Amino acid sequence: MPVGQSMVVSTIINENNITLDDFLNLVYERIIVSISKLPENYPLDEEIALAMFILRGSADFNRSLYALDLRNPTLRYVDNIFKILLSSKNLMERLNLNFRELQPQHVAGERERNTQIRINLKWFYDNVICRYPDINKYKTDILRINRRNLGEVHAYHMFEDRLIFYKQKILGRDLSDNEIRALRRDLEFSENIEYVPENKFNIRNQKIVAFAREMFEDKCVGCGDIYDIADRSFVMPRNNRYYFEVNHVIAYASDSDAVDVLDNLVKLCPVCHRALTPHRAYPDLQRRIISNMLDSRPEVCNFVHSMMPAHYKSPVDYVFDNLK
Ligand SMILES: [Zn+2]
Repeated sequence: MPVGQSMVVSTIINENNITLDDFLNLVYERIIVSISKLPENYPLDEEIALAMFILRGSADFNRSLYALDLRNPTLRYVDNIFKILLSSKNLMERLNLNFRELQPQHVAGERERNTQIRINLKWFYDNVICRYPDINKYKTDILRINRRNLGEVHAYHMFEDRLIFYKQKILGRDLSDNEIRALRRDLEFSENIEYVPENKFNIRNQKIVAFAREMFEDKCVGCGDIYDIADRSFVMPRNNRYYFEVNHVIAYASDSDAVDVLDNLVKLCPVCHRALTPHRAYPDLQRRIISNMLDSRPEVCNFVHSMMPAHYKSPVDYVFDNLK
């Protein structure tokens, strides 16, 4: 190691004998809770990008992107990355997903390559490298020397749609040639990268709700154990799935997006969703639906506990008092 540089080594003692996957999941839960408590002007997008890209990956000066291989990711790992990105402000618009499993070279068996997450190179340089130049001096120097070749700051289309596609259709599958051809058709796969005008950024809330609608199980967490969904909702011709509404467990208030995270969302049938409007249904029904929402996934319960002021004894009371 060159003179003047120091190394930081941390040791984690596994006293409770938990698996690495479980450990990383606990770390993720802590991160999500901390993100929801950050001040409005915190450089969250910059720090998420820093954590993702600074130690690995490489610059592609031809495409003006900085690329990182996803090496044998597990479903839970991808989910957690996705949830953190959904909590970012606009970072997803700087990202692009490259399905190299579907490319001709991979299909022909010439080069087996992993899916890559890529970030706009100029944005990465301006907002991450220049802000934290000392963390990876080697990468900093490469980009600084080539700073006239970084291209422009751009936003990209549909990162979240592509990530959902990756999770559902590619991740962990051993795809046959026919399946790959079909997927390429579905995706209208192309090497061209589309740009989005800067003023067309999606609103964060709509993205998270759209993701929840797509990915959560088609079951009303309020009444799914009592009623058949066919008696409570209808099938949508668009995708042959039952219609559900996505509900913020701690009600969404327009003045704060702290509760606008995936762990605070559940799927309800239209009846249960309507019943949660204050005073529209009797309190015992509202409390039963709230209790079922809290029990639906451990992360929902953890999130509500983390947001609940100390004077509350029960998360059901807290959610009930904040119905909107
Ligand atoms: Zn229901």
